[in-house]
Amino acid sequence: MRRVHRPNLPGQIQAYLDRKAHVSVNSANIERRWKSARKTKSLITVLGTLQSMMGPRQRCMYCVDSHGSDIEHFWPKGTYPARAFVWSNMLLCCTECGRFKLDRFPLSTDGLPLLVNPSDEDPWEHLDFDPDTGNLTARYIVDQDAPSAKGEETVKILQLDRREGMAEGYRQTFKRIVARVNAALAEDQIDPQQLADDLLEYDDHGLMGWCFGPVGRHLSPFQQLHDTAPAAWAACEATTA
Ligand SMILES: [Zn+2]
Repeated sequence: MRRVHRPNLPGQIQAYLDRKAHVSVNSANIERRWKSARKTKSLITVLGTLQSMMGPRQRCMYCVDSHGSDIEHFWPKGTYPARAFVWSNMLLCCTECGRFKLDRFPLSTDGLPLLVNPSDEDPWEHLDFDPDTGNLTARYIVDQDAPSAKGEETVKILQLDRREGMAEGYRQTFKRIVARVNAALAEDQIDPQQLADDLLEYDDHGLMGWCFGPVGRHLSPFQQLHDTAPAAWAACEATTA
């Protein structure tokens, strides 16, 4: 998973959503209203904007592995119809993640979502990566002496620890990143920006945030880069902000 930055929508598209959001909707009619709105030019533009947020490969914002083909409501529209036309509630999702999530949306005791929202937060604060299996797991939070509850729910809902094809994609990306960092470490002089650009190009799965975050920093070969080439490390780390 990767942190996603959300642009503003063009004015007339945002105005369309605002108009829609002001019409009172309820759980009984939201599906029909959404279905008919979904065919409009405005929502086709919304889908295009979400896809462009994920680069040329238009990956799903949850698994970052499959093609993101539909607008997903982070707060499910069936349960929270008032959020159906709210731009900040819209993500890009693949068919598989959409099928796993459906209306599953656990909340904490304070009423906060126990699901990572990649457009709101750095997913790697809650998720960990297993380079051997390629699976995503819940991150262990040292201060709490427990795995992140949000991470655990996210992994469970989206089945991020039991999707073989996805895990293989993550493993391949990780191998490419490691190989490029090893090649850089063998160079007499590393070009920090070139390294960062190459790694971003290879990083189909948002793994830079993990490799150049608190976990990767202590693992080979990232630790060596951190210790011996601080400028290159900084350039790579900057791409994850
Ligand atoms: Zn997906």
